[in-house]
Amino acid sequence: MEKRPYRGRFAPSPTGALHFGSLVAAVGSYLDARANGGEWIVRIEDVDTTRCHPEFSAAILETLAAFGFEWDGPVVFQSQRTAYYEEAFSYLKRKGLVYGCACSRREIADSAIGIDGAHIYPGTCRNGLPPGRQPRAWRLVVPDREIVFEDAIQGVQRQNLAKDVGDFVLRRADGLFAYQLAVVADDIEQGINHVVRGADLLASTPRQIWLYECLDETPPHYAHLPLAVNAAGEKLSKQTRAAPVCAAEPLAPLVAAMRFLNLDPGKSECSLKELWNWAIMHWSVGNVPGKQAIESPDPTQQEKQHDR
Ligand code: GLU
Repeated sequence: MEKRPYRGRFAPSPTGALHFGSLVAAVGSYLDARANGGEWIVRIEDVDTTRCHPEFSAAILETLAAFGFEWDGPVVFQSQRTAYYEEAFSYLKRKGLVYGCACSRREIADSAIGIDGAHIYPGTCRNGLPPGRQPRAWRLVVPDREIVFEDAIQGVQRQNLAKDVGDFVLRRADGLFAYQLAVVADDIEQGINHVVRGADLLASTPRQIWLYECLDETPPHYAHLPLAVNAAGEKLSKQTRAAPVCAAEPLAPLVAAMRFLNLDPGKSECSLKELWNWAIMHWSVGNVPGKQAIESPDPTQQEKQHDR
């Protein structure tokens, strides 16, 4: 039995405005937290300062507020939390689990493609840098055994990090900390014990579980929501030109996001407050379809076509 109270979060990266796909993640994580009497925190994941923009952070927070999401405590920004990442990184270094890597992208390009479309790191620098080379990035040593966990929506998952990913980067060649380290250091520091997010991160979860183990911490419970994809099977995102959800008319996209998660309020002629109260009462993570992706017309696109 979990003794600590439920603490969940929504952790958007401000690389674009909130679109239907990210709204689904916000709705799923919010409903699961509130239905369990838990807290729900918003963390802006702007650790990769080369891809994130403050105007998107502001727009995302405005949209969440307009949609009636109520978060606990102040919003935290990864760009202001480097000290936590430094601390976790030093801890892992002291344990001898981190090594400097001199390989350029080109030097890894011959290696097989791994679980998330990147090259599996062949371990070239694991036992020391080749003579005359300087470290560029810093990698975490991974074990050659299966990491197994049970996802509340997707069921039992298994991954062998050595075979499917290789030693992965914690600190990049440009000095920035990688997403994998930042997300785990933050979830530990913020006491997050339930992670509800999109299934695009399912393949990252074993890396994160391994990080918890290396940091001598307990991983959270995981629930990975199906992703909204277009007819070509692509995730709705800025790259696939998903339209931002419209903060002025929150009800229709909220109802669409709930229906996507198999929670159908029937009609949308009600107040935001009534909709949320109904949804919190009727939410069950067990009703979410156990699929990694569901083709879904982007409701915002449909509205746009309708307006034309
Ligand atoms: N920042 C990540 C994203 O927007 C989510 C990270 C997470 O939920 O762990 O895709």
